Amino acid sequence: MRFVQRDWLSSNLFVFFDGEGDAREATVVDTGYHRHSAQTVALVAHLLAREGLGMDRLRRIVNTHLHSDHCGGNLALHQASGARVTVPASMLDSVRRWDNERLTFQDFRQHCERFPAHDGLAPGDSLVLGGLRWQAHGAPGHDPDSLVLHCPEARLLISADALWENGFGVIFPELTGASGFAEQAAVLELIAALPVDLALPGHGPIITDVPAALARARSRLKAFRDDAHRSPRNAVKVMLKFMLLDHGRLPMAQALAELAGSRTVGGAAAQLGLTPDEALRRSLDELLAQGQLGLEPDGTLINLEPTG
Ligand SMILES: [Zn+2]
Repeated sequence: MRFVQRDWLSSNLFVFFDGEGDAREATVVDTGYHRHSAQTVALVAHLLAREGLGMDRLRRIVNTHLHSDHCGGNLALHQASGARVTVPASMLDSVRRWDNERLTFQDFRQHCERFPAHDGLAPGDSLVLGGLRWQAHGAPGHDPDSLVLHCPEARLLISADALWENGFGVIFPELTGASGFAEQAAVLELIAALPVDLALPGHGPIITDVPAALARARSRLKAFRDDAHRSPRNAVKVMLKFMLLDHGRLPMAQALAELAGSRTVGGAAAQLGLTPDEALRRSLDELLAQGQLGLEPDGTLINLEPTG
C-alpha cells in the first residue's frame, strides 16, 4: 500500500497493488479535488511506474464518500486508465443520474467533473486490497453515506473524514435539519471497538495513537453538542475557506453571494439566528483575524494559509 498525504483541498490518496506478473493490478482509494486532477493522475502514474506498471493496470477506483475533495479526480483517473469506479452503494444510483439534490457539490459551491460509477460498496461488504481483506463499515456523521475501511489482519483503518489526528470533518447533516452528532458518536465507538493500530485519515497525517485521537474527537463532539453555535460557525468558516483554497482569490462580494445561496450555509446561519450574509461576514472576519484569508484594498479575498 502507498499512502500519499495531501492537503485540505485534496484528500489523502491510497494505492494498493494486488496479484503477480501479468495479473498485477492497482486500486486507488479517493482521488482528491478536481483542480488537482492532473497532479492526481501524475502521482498515480508515478506510483504504478515504480512497480513497473502502466496506467492500464489501474483497475479500480474506490471512494470512501462523495465529497468533492475525495472524488474530484475520478473522471481523470478513469479516463487515463479505464478503471472501474466503486462508490458507496447508497449513492450508486445518485451518481449514475448525477442527482444534484443528493450530491453535495452544487450546494457546497464546489466542483466535481461528472464521472461514471460501475458498482457500489455497502457496509458489511469486503474487498481485497494489497493482498489483505478489508471490511467496509458505514460511517455516517460527517456524511450519511460515508464508509471507512478496516483491515483486521493488519490492524489498519482507512478512516476517511470520520477520524482525523485532530477531530473529524464537519457534521453536515446537522446543518440541514438531519441528525449527525449521534451518528458520529456511534462511529467513534465503532472505531474504538475495532482492532486498529494505525488509522489512515482522509486529511492530515497517519494517526499512530488512535485512542488519543478518539479522545480528542469525543471532546470536540461534546463541545459541538454543548454549544449549539459552535458547529454551524465552524461549518461556515470551512466552506468559505474551501472556496478560497479552491479559487485562490475571488472578489469578496462574489464569494459571499455564491455561498449565501447554499442550503447548507442557510441552515447553519439559521442555527446561529443570522441571515446567511451575516453568518458569512462573521466567518470572514474570523478568517481574516486568524490570517487564513486576506482582503486586498480592491475588495479581493485571497487565500493565505495552506491548511484550513
Ligand atoms: Zn468529506
